[in-house]
Amino acid sequence: MRKELRLDPQFVRKLRNDLLKKFANDNDALAAFPAGDRVQCHVLSLFKRVDSNIDGATKLLFRTSAGMLIESVILRIATGRTTLCVSSQVGCAAACDFCATGKMGIAQNLTPAEILDQVFQAGQLLAAENRRLDNIVFMGMGEPFHNEQNLHETLQILTASHMFDRSPSTILVSTVGVHDAMLRCAERFPLVNLALSLHSVDQETRKTIIPLARKHPLNELQETLRQVNKLQQREVMIEYLMLAGVNDSSDNASQLAVWLDGIQAHVNLIPYNPIDDAPHLTGTDRDQISAFADILKKAGRKTTVRYSLGNDIAAACGQLVRKENRDKAIQDHKFSRQS
Ligand code: SAH
Repeated sequence: MRKELRLDPQFVRKLRNDLLKKFANDNDALAAFPAGDRVQCHVLSLFKRVDSNIDGATKLLFRTSAGMLIESVILRIATGRTTLCVSSQVGCAAACDFCATGKMGIAQNLTPAEILDQVFQAGQLLAAENRRLDNIVFMGMGEPFHNEQNLHETLQILTASHMFDRSPSTILVSTVGVHDAMLRCAERFPLVNLALSLHSVDQETRKTIIPLARKHPLNELQETLRQVNKLQQREVMIEYLMLAGVNDSSDNASQLAVWLDGIQAHVNLIPYNPIDDAPHLTGTDRDQISAFADILKKAGRKTTVRYSLGNDIAAACGQLVRKENRDKAIQDHKFSRQS
């Protein structure tokens, strides 16, 4: 467009800086741009915004141009920092037993523009509140490494100095555990943080809650983590969902400590958010989570318990979108019967 309109590259640079780095609002940024009326800033439309009444969480539901709903969550943490949780896919093929997204029955990749627009729109919303966006985590809908090429392109654009110019160490990619893709990411983006959703160190148990564990068994993942450590020279995050009677005993804690031996990692214990589609699963109570954490800490392992925000607006990740999609499907069905 720049060439077509014979624009001064300076204008384009300024527009990019205003929008992607400062998160200026569209009208202000475009007012100073010669071809402002020809610029389409967004690929996602905001379908619904839900603010928590109890803490600093905001859920954003976006509609893609294909008409699918995805969600992003802004977490205004009490420390003053702000994290954005982004989606990388609509639905997810990993189909984990405890996850609402996996129960959607679809898996479609989001384009880099669709992932980046979540950052862009959330950044604009925060800038209007005079808040900075500090961290970006790929912990929304989808398995980022099932959308690897688009993920890499997104990370490239997020960290490029002439684009979003974000520090790679403020970005975290969470995965169910895809060996080759984890290594490729660690190699190409050694400063981007990796998190592995481990959830159990017993292969049989892990297979029952994460079907993909069949393809990527625990002994392979142990090797993956060692290699990732070598490539990154930094800790990986181990996510461990606390499910009552499944993976939360004292023995399980000791086994986890042993399993992680020699691996540079800190453990983040995640309280389970119950989902409608998994009535057989319940979360571990607070006291048992603390006891589990203590065993890990005594074994010398850095351990934190995830502070969960937005319980009133979110239930679990993916639930709201699933409900909206279902409502839409019912409406579409009614409409097609009427016409
Ligand atoms: N597919 C990626 C990223 C998306 S899920 C992954 O598996 O890591 C982000 C995190 O939320 C994962 O650790 C996942 O296991 C966890 N999670 C999924 N459903 C949950 C639920 N109902 N309650 C709490 N955490 C959940």
